[in-house]
Amino acid sequence: MKMKLGLLYGGKSAEHNVSLQTAKAVTAALDLNKFDVYPVYISIDGTWTEGEKLDAPAEHIDELTIKGNGGTEHVLSMLSKGKYDVVFPLLHGPNGEDGTVQGLLEVLNVPYVGNGVLASSAGMDKVIMKNVFAQAGLKQVGYTHMTRTEWETNKIPSCEMIEREIGWPCFVKPANLGSSVGISKCQNKDELIDAMEEAFQFDRKVIIEEGVNAREIEVGILGNDHPACSVIGEIVPKKDFYDYKAKYEDADTALIIPAEITADQKKEMESLAIRAFRSLDCSGLVRADFFLTESGEFLINEVNTMPGFTPFSMFPLLWKEAGVEYPQLIEKMIDLAIERHTEKQ
Ligand code: ATP
Ligand code: MG
Ligand code: MG
Ligand code: MG
Repeated sequence: MKMKLGLLYGGKSAEHNVSLQTAKAVTAALDLNKFDVYPVYISIDGTWTEGEKLDAPAEHIDELTIKGNGGTEHVLSMLSKGKYDVVFPLLHGPNGEDGTVQGLLEVLNVPYVGNGVLASSAGMDKVIMKNVFAQAGLKQVGYTHMTRTEWETNKIPSCEMIEREIGWPCFVKPANLGSSVGISKCQNKDELIDAMEEAFQFDRKVIIEEGVNAREIEVGILGNDHPACSVIGEIVPKKDFYDYKAKYEDADTALIIPAEITADQKKEMESLAIRAFRSLDCSGLVRADFFLTESGEFLINEVNTMPGFTPFSMFPLLWKEAGVEYPQLIEKMIDLAIERHTEKQ
């Protein structure tokens, strides 16, 4: 019997468009002899629409959404009636990668791909994630954070505090987002003010980090209770840092796979990545991102609980190098979803 798969994509998030690119690639790779695929589109304002069962891979992502059934209520009722054997929340950023959709699926007792509620939510909030990493003894850059209310009432003293505690350059980021949306690098107070205003467009909480001059090294992890690392890769952005444009619009960021690091460094990074995975109680998959400093120290930057997932994204490329092709990778993630669901019962 074919497995019925509900593919959630789009999402009420500033990373909506990234999910559209990914969804097209995933639907093209799913074997329709093994899966009945029901695309479920979530619009940028949060309305859910169930598409017709796919009878061929979509040529264009719009095709997935044209012949929609019902609205959010219809999809929720299909979910609660157990229409899908497994759901793939192919969503990035808030309202999808952050534990909210995962919580809904838990309540409805539907197996789903990727991380559970806790890892998703803790992994989405960069402040909480870093606090957990610190507790696990993982080294990272210095950081502080601020809410919009604190910022609005204390802009100048806040800048002075950041200059004193973090220094220049610093990175300002919305606490809950990804794909580099809303992130700026600042060299002085004027840039800092602009960066804070920009980041608060996306979140009520902002993190400010010490900027490091370091290599960016990433690894994929797959598994539940027995997580395994992919090959390790390096990102070399041609620009100042790996911003949204460099990720999705320019072709000139180099992904070096495998990264040129020593065997000892490889071992060290794998063990740090697994420690990070366990510290947040991750399951299914993550991409763990590190900085490798000039003095040879690995600092963890973050984990992404639903990393970029087109066939040209880092996570699938790292697994390809490890011998797992894109369609197999998707099936592996689905198997892990079922395994975790079964183990919980
Ligand atoms: P994604 O989820 O797509 O990986 P993100 O939005 O969570 O990205 P980060 O990975 O935290 O954002 O940062 C984006 C990029 O900004 C990094 O890949 C790196 O190039 C640069 N960067 C971020 N923080 C720092 C830092 N503290 N020092 C130096 N560079 C940084
Ligand atoms: Mg991220
Ligand atoms: Mg991300
Ligand atoms: Mg990142």
